[in-house]
Amino acid sequence: MFRHDDDAMSEQATESRMTALEAARNKMAEMRDQGIVIKKRDPYQIAAADPKSLRKAVNAKCWDCQGGGADPNTRQAVGQCGITDCSLWPVRPWQEAVG
Ligand code: SF4
Repeated sequence: MFRHDDDAMSEQATESRMTALEAARNKMAEMRDQGIVIKKRDPYQIAAADPKSLRKAVNAKCWDCQGGGADPNTRQAVGQCGITDCSLWPVRPWQEAVG
């Protein structure tokens, strides 16, 4: 019974994320249609804009550790990081990108 409830909550969370993602994509398309140039910030810039955020600091550190975007697959490289004794390893970003 609890497992069934957990599955239902997980499906709701996934649907909620998809809805948020679709909403963000729609908003970006709308902005592009209005001629607004959308600048994508890298994890360094995101962390610099919010220096008290530990999540953003970890993201920036792992981004830096894996080449700072020199490789187009930096996020995947972080997700696949094999340095398990690194203190950031359990909380590194983009783990879901590995699959
Ligand atoms: S978890 Fe991996 S990518 Fe992140 S800082 Fe540690 S060694 Fe680098």
